[in-house]
Amino acid sequence: MALIDLENVSKVYDHASKPALDEVNLHINRGDFVFLVGASGAGKSTLLSLLLREEEASAGQIRVAGNDLQRISHRHVPHYRRGIGFVFQDYKLLENMTVWENVAFALEVIGTKRSTIKSIVPQVLEAVGLTGKENRMPHELSGGEAQRVAIARAYANHPAIILADEPTGNLDPTTSVGIMEVLEAINRTGTTIVMATHNEEIVNSMRKRVVELHGGRIVRDEENGMYDSAL
Ligand code: ADP
Ligand code: ADP
Repeated sequence: MALIDLENVSKVYDHASKPALDEVNLHINRGDFVFLVGASGAGKSTLLSLLLREEEASAGQIRVAGNDLQRISHRHVPHYRRGIGFVFQDYKLLENMTVWENVAFALEVIGTKRSTIKSIVPQVLEAVGLTGKENRMPHELSGGEAQRVAIARAYANHPAIILADEPTGNLDPTTSVGIMEVLEAINRTGTTIVMATHNEEIVNSMRKRVVELHGGRIVRDEENGMYDSAL
């Protein structure tokens, strides 16, 4: 069975005249790296919110790592989300905490032992290339460094899946390549990555699976894909 399975999934927001997602079928295996592309409004963020269980599908079935997302009770949503790391375009770091504390806090809130936190934080900061920046505050970081902290935080408890919504959206091309190297290294450890992006250069240079949405429907799903369909 695939790690992520969507069967005929539709999402209609309240008061919307047309569906944000329309009968989507998508299967993603453990260890896959998937780019979600498509114009603004195509449904990329909606798909990520459904996987994170921030939104619920209006129809169809979503299974993630054996969980049927329609049947997860509210009480179990936080537990479900622990298996997923999320990276945003605007980092969303806690501004009053150091780099170290931002990562440690993510582990604290899920009840990780202090001694475990002390051994994990240096490992994940090293994995994202931030050794030596432990005591910086977010406002002292470049955009690329801030995004590395966000990735370290998302990866700290080794989730099966990392979802990323435009993680390079605020970064220059060189910095973006560095961020993608970090995500690719994390993917090589077996973590499944699903990333919504408008970054044509990145998609075309990495040649991963590309799923294109248009008007809430999947119009293309290619291995080793390009940003635009090859015509
Ligand atoms: P993308 O991420 O590809 O830009 P979205 O998933 O954000 O696309 O949007 C898909 C469609 O759903 C758009 O028509 C958008 O206006 C609509 N939409 C997104 N979020 C909401 C919401 N919270 N309430 C109502 N409509 C929404
Ligand atoms: P406690 O007083 O609870 O034992 P720690 O000794 O874990 O706290 O850490 C105190 C502060 O020092 C942390 O909030 C963190 O910012 C910082 N810190 C801890 N270990 C490191 C480290 N290896 N590198 C940089 N900063 C660290």
